[in-house]
Amino acid sequence: MAGFRTHITVSTLCGVGYGAAAVDPLGFPSEAAVLAAGLTGVGGMLPDLDSDSGVPVRELSGLAAAIVPLLLARRLLASGMTHESMLATMGGLYFLIRYGGAWLVRSVSVHRGMFHSIPAMLIAGLVVYLEYRSPDRAVRLMLAGGVMIGFLSHLILDEIYSVDFNGIRLRLNKSAGSAVKFVSPSWAGTLTCYLILGGLAFLAYMDWARADAH
Ligand SMILES: [Zn+2]
Repeated sequence: MAGFRTHITVSTLCGVGYGAAAVDPLGFPSEAAVLAAGLTGVGGMLPDLDSDSGVPVRELSGLAAAIVPLLLARRLLASGMTHESMLATMGGLYFLIRYGGAWLVRSVSVHRGMFHSIPAMLIAGLVVYLEYRSPDRAVRLMLAGGVMIGFLSHLILDEIYSVDFNGIRLRLNKSAGSAVKFVSPSWAGTLTCYLILGGLAFLAYMDWARADAH
């Protein structure tokens, strides 16, 4: 069983289903649905960012480096930046995420640690929600739901098949129960994860309240 390919296949299929459901019956515009489907597919890769092989980190940091500046473009434009400083910021962000982000993830993560957990899934959803500054809250929730569905599909697959990234099949009883979890044996990892989750939840709450106030 090819771990990485299996994860991508399943999360992509989930994304197709989710995107289709977003259009009909949920009635979202098809562009938003396509974006949601893509996020669901990417969500299925996220937990294996902690993989020691380095492949998911390389792939995803490249993807994030390209996409995050694009997602931020709306906010940069709104801030009244000049065209040149905007380009410089986006270029800087690319290198920061591509190399700095990859280095950071590699140095803090333990394979099958807190990256494979329910709070990490919520973090992914909150990041998407906060990052996508659309005035349409329903679209933001729908996109956040997409990345979480992809993430969850990964956790469940790991749980069922105990597939590792390289496709090495571990003994089921050895790693079963290690993916869909709330805490890891490392208290520092667990604490960090919940601190990040708490911080993001607070930001999302503030954002929600601010939108209500307008
Ligand atoms: Zn995994």
